[in-house]
Amino acid sequence: MDFALTREQELLRSSLEEFCAKEMPKEKLREWDETVDFIPDELWGKMADLGMFAFAVPQEYGGEGADMVTAMAAFEIICKYSTAVALGVGATMGFGTRTVVELGTDEQKNEILPGIAQGKVRFSLGLTEPAGGTDILGALSTYAVKNGDDYVINGQKIYITGAHKADYISTMVITDRDNPKRSHALSTFLVPANLPGLEIRTIPKVGCHACAACEVFYQDVRVPATAMVGT
Ligand SMILES: Cc1cc2nc3c(=O)[nH]c(=O)nc-3n(C[C@H](O)[C@H](O)[C@H](O)COP(=O)(O)OP(=O)(O)OC[C@H]3O[C@@H](n4cnc5c(N)ncnc54)[C@H](O)[C@@H]3O)c2cc1C
Repeated sequence: MDFALTREQELLRSSLEEFCAKEMPKEKLREWDETVDFIPDELWGKMADLGMFAFAVPQEYGGEGADMVTAMAAFEIICKYSTAVALGVGATMGFGTRTVVELGTDEQKNEILPGIAQGKVRFSLGLTEPAGGTDILGALSTYAVKNGDDYVINGQKIYITGAHKADYISTMVITDRDNPKRSHALSTFLVPANLPGLEIRTIPKVGCHACAACEVFYQDVRVPATAMVGT
């Protein structure tokens, strides 16, 4: 099996390398680490202009339709320059694009993917909870209860990268609390981050300040059943 990158992938990487060297010099990275808690809008916009957020979005939704290997080959260059920038960009590319492309309904794809491709929609992932992250089946207690055409979510998440700047928090919850098999009891909702009942607080960190981690509290957060992905 040939693991070498294609010529197109190498070209993509070298143009991104040029971009990062110009737009993310060490002086700016240091300044951002001291002054901001997320990637500056200006850099985010330039990345969008470069097509960074469109890479892995299918063409019918305004993206480039690149495969995940190509997207990751490009993403690796950003990681080399800045963990903070990579975390912020990666949350949208990984937790937004990937989730919606792989599991989203047609309605969710139409609503969300064009915005991601244009750099206008940001994502975060609400998975880890105070009881732990590795053993997610045992640790997760945030739950959603069906109420008419909606679900009502209660619980808490922690270490959520970029939630304070996200448009959506892809939130994993228990929807079947009576099911003894936890792996069959979970669902994911694409929760708009501006809903009533959501509280998002940044957590002080020792480093990587230019992309904050957050606690997210859900108190009777009402989402339409159509916001569910998966089962
Ligand atoms: C930079 C960064 C960004 C993150 N961003 C996000 C995010 O955007 N969204 C999100 O939901 N979470 C995020 N997280 C949280 C991350 O998912 C959790 O930190 C991770 O899942 C581990 O969970 P924990 O920290 O609670 O550690 P724990 O689960 O308590 O684990 C602590 C240690 O115990 C070990 N351990 C745990 N259980 C077992 C077991 N059963 N057997 C053997 N060993 C075990 C683990 O391997 C680990 O070494 C982020 C974390 C980091 C560091």
